[in-house]
This record gives sequence, structure tokens and C-alpha cells, in this order.
Amino acid sequence: MGIIASAGVVLLLVAFGPCRATDGPPAPSQDAAAITVSRAGSQPSVKGPAERFTGSVRVDPMLKEAPPSRLSGGLVTFEPGARSAWHAHPLGQTLIVTAGVGRVQRWGGPVQEIRPGDVVRIPPGVKHWHGAAADTGMSHVALVEALDGRSTDWMEHVTDEQYLGG
Ligand code: MN
Repeated sequence: MGIIASAGVVLLLVAFGPCRATDGPPAPSQDAAAITVSRAGSQPSVKGPAERFTGSVRVDPMLKEAPPSRLSGGLVTFEPGARSAWHAHPLGQTLIVTAGVGRVQRWGGPVQEIRPGDVVRIPPGVKHWHGAAADTGMSHVALVEALDGRSTDWMEHVTDEQYLGG
């Protein structure tokens, strides 16, 4: 009954919503309202640039920013021993591990092992790195929101000593 009653309320809101012209976002155009399916293989893989990564890293773009959303994301695959440079995200980042064994560390914190199914939340502004384990590759989906058009502030590379938890 509760669900039916709720549905009725929603229908009423839908029915009377247009009368309240100043409430909520503007009605999207027909094109903007279309559901899009980005097909697998429609966006080429990109090599992770040496100034931002150590070792072999492949980025498969998944989501581009679609304003007003600020969300973008991709699948990042690290070969064994490969990792990002130190960096931070103005609005933080979410990592969803999909394969292999990986590592993540915040500046001053312990190196943590991450595995498929783990969801890692990097808080805004926290200096950190992520990458594969020494002998096992790792893939994660990385989701990030831009602030004033910027989603990542890149810093120095992670040394071997830092990577090994020394
Ligand atoms: Mn990150």
C-alpha cells in the first residue's frame, strides 16, 4: 500500500509540476533527454603518460563530463609494479577494483592492499597514489568529479622505496 500511495504522490507531482515554473531544473531538450549507450570499443585506449605514471599503464576512457554533471571516469589497468604518481583530487575520487591485486596509499599512511570488489574512497585534497602489486597487475574503475574544470593535481613520482612501503 505504501508503494502504491507513494506512486500516487509522484504522479500528482508530475501532473502539477509544470505549474510551478521556477522550481527545479529546466526541462531538458529532446536530444539532451536521450539515453546514450557508449559501446565497448568505441573509445581507443590511451597509454598512461610517463610524467604521471611509473611503469606500464593503460587507460580506457568510459565517461566524459556531460554538463551539468562533473563526473568522468575510466578503466585503468596497471601492469605489475606500475603505479600513478602522487596526486590529489579537488573533490576526491572513487576507485572500484575490478581485477588483480593493487595498492593504495595516502601521504603519511600505510600502503593498503586492494582487491576486486573493493571500493576505495579518496577524500578531497588528499595526496595519494594507487597502482598494482609488485607481482600482479590490477585494474580499477576510477570516478572523479571536476571542480572548476580540474579533477586531478599531479605531483612527484612514487619512489621504489615508497612503493615497497619503506
Ligand atoms: Mn587518485
